[in-house]
This record gives sequence, structure tokens and C-alpha cells, in this order.
Amino acid sequence: MAERLVFHIDVNSAFLSWEAVKRVQNGEADLRLIPSCIGGDPKSRVGIVVAKSIPAKKYGITTGEPMAMALRKCPNLVVVPSDFEQYVKCSKAFKAICKEYTPEMESFSIDEVFLDMSGMEKIYPDPIKTAHEIKDRIRDELGFTVNVGIASNKVCAKMASDFEKPDKVHTLFEDEIASKMWPLPVNELFTCGKASASKLISAGIKTIGELAKADITELKRLLGDKTGIQLRNFANGIDDSPVKEEKEEAKGYSAETTVDDNLDSFEKINRMLLAQADIVTARMRAENARCRCVGVTFRTTEFKNKSHQRKLPESTDVTDKVYEVAKELMIECWNGEPLRLIGLSITDIDRDGFEQMSFIVDERKEKMKKLDSALDSIRGKFGDDSVKRASTVEVGKRINRKFKAERKNI
Ligand SMILES: [Mg+2]
Repeated sequence: MAERLVFHIDVNSAFLSWEAVKRVQNGEADLRLIPSCIGGDPKSRVGIVVAKSIPAKKYGITTGEPMAMALRKCPNLVVVPSDFEQYVKCSKAFKAICKEYTPEMESFSIDEVFLDMSGMEKIYPDPIKTAHEIKDRIRDELGFTVNVGIASNKVCAKMASDFEKPDKVHTLFEDEIASKMWPLPVNELFTCGKASASKLISAGIKTIGELAKADITELKRLLGDKTGIQLRNFANGIDDSPVKEEKEEAKGYSAETTVDDNLDSFEKINRMLLAQADIVTARMRAENARCRCVGVTFRTTEFKNKSHQRKLPESTDVTDKVYEVAKELMIECWNGEPLRLIGLSITDIDRDGFEQMSFIVDERKEKMKKLDSALDSIRGKFGDDSVKRASTVEVGKRINRKFKAERKNI
């Protein structure tokens, strides 16, 4: 196989930078230059640090820590709420620039992409120069910085972009692995979670280099077969996973909420899901679109992310239909652990086809459609907050009991 060339592009302190861009445009202080963070409601002193500036990091503030603790470390900390619309706007803008350089781009998260630059040497003979060009264009055209990692596979490119920040280009080619990656602590290896890291450290494996040379039988015993093999491969810079280019159609609508009080019951979760279903389907209906896939994403208090999605037998734009599927998905994949974040997404968007007609006329569906369009037109007049469905406030308890019962039957 020909040598591959992969770029990993990662926005530096994404949410904070994106909020800063907005504020600088309005003539306000640059959050990146002062101790600041994105967090929960600054007045309530609850919630967690979602992103922090480099000056805030100097006070020892860490992402994920409770806001009260962060404020004790730095009483002058400027705390700003999150603005998801702004994040989506900035995310789209930087991905559009990246996409100009190769047809094969994988969106890895809201602020990260992989670019497969293999076989592009005729157009871009010098990868390091090209990486600098992408990085500088994003900085100059959009006002925020990224790091670019260059390597022959995704894992090494991802590791490279994590070296010194911000606004830097790093390489991690095969002959650089021993000098650049092996001295790093083992917990910094991509996909090495807290639990794996502490098992490795207590077995005396403290650096990525030690992991790379560790006995595979011992690693399998410590971490299980799959994780043991994967982490040892990654430590040796071995990874042949492809850059997965997604179809344009994968785009959709999503809502995501980070909560201050843990979501620990179906009652709370369902209330949030209904509110989110309401928001995303209203946006979709405004564009005369329908979806064929519903997904839920959540994050536990230990920062584990999980997502689950389902294709629908026919496309829909009905809030309650989307809400019902989202609830089912949660029943299937939530184990009861407290959640910090929950999101609902609708994808596989159908923009011009007609909704497939069921053979049975679904009266309830027709009623729901009427309710939806009535709510949408009120929203159009008075803004999104003017209408809240009764059930987002009231029927949670009943739903929760019902779902507890249903869970037992699975
Ligand atoms: Mg980032």
C-alpha cells in the first residue's frame, strides 16, 4: 500500500475561542487573553467548566471541574454561558476551509477534522507548507486558531495535533514516534481512558514508550484482549483505519444541552428530550424538510460519551414521533448513570420528496401535525420561548413511571 498522508486539524480551546471571536467583534475583551471559561450560569455557582482560556489554565483550572472550585482558584475568573448557535456557525466555517484541500474529510467532532491528503503531492507537494496555509487561513479569515497534526495515519496525526498549542503545525512520522511520542505519559495516548491508564500505571507502565514495548499477554490480561491490542498498536503508531468521508446528506439538525443538575431519571431526561425534539423539528419544518433517522447522545458525569440512533421506516417531521423514538433509544442504552449532557439529533434529511403515505390513515399523526404547525406559527411571531408544551413541564412523572415499567420488560 502506498504511503498515506493524514492531517488532523483541531481548534484550540474551541468553545472559548468561538465565544471570544463573537465578543471581539462586538468590541469586548478577548476572553483568550484573560482568565476565563465557558461554564454554567455564573450567578448560580453551579455547573462545570466546559472550556477554559490559557490564562485560566495557569490558575490550575481544569475542564470538567465544578464551577465553585474554579472560582475558588481564581475569584476574578470571567465565566460566560455557552452559545451553541455560535459554535455551529464557527464549526461549519472552519470545516468549509478544510474541505477545500481534499475531497476526503472526516468530521471527527464539532472542532476536529481528519483530512486524507494521500496522493495529493502533485497539487500540494509540501505537506508542511499546506498545513501552515490551512492553519493561517483559518486564523486570518475566521479569527481563531487551530493546531494541525501531520502523519501517515489518523492516530499519529491526532497525537501530533495535541503537541504544543496554540497555532502550531506538528508532524509525527514513523521515525519520530520514539522521540516525540514515547516519552509522554501513558494517559495521553489517544483512547487511553482513566481506567486503563490507572491499571497500566499500577503495573509499572507509565509512558507510551513502555506501553509500546510491553508484553502483549500481560496487556491483554490487564485491559482485556481488544483494548490491550489496540492500545499497544496505538503506542507503536500503528493504525490503518480510513478517513471516513461522510455524505453531505448526513447533515441534519441537533440540539445539545449541558445541565447543571445531573439528569438522573427518565422524568428529567424525557423533559429535556421533548424540549429538544420541539426545537429541532421546528427548525426542520421551517425548511420543509423531513428526517429518516433519530439519534440521542449523552455524556455521563465521568465524561463518557455514548450515542445511539435509529432509522425510521418512513420520514417524518412530527415532533412527537421524533420524541417517541428518542425516548425508546434512551430506554435501550441508558443504564441509569447520572448525565451531564444530553443531545438529540435528526439526520438523513429528505428535502423534496413527499412523505410516504401509510396505508392506514393515521388520525393521531394528522392531529399532531396540526399542533406542530400551530406551535410553529406562534413561535414565529413571539420567538422560541413563547411556547412550551404542557408535557415538558407536567407529565414527566407519569412518563417516568411508565418507562420504569417498560425497562423491566426488556
Ligand atoms: Mg479542540
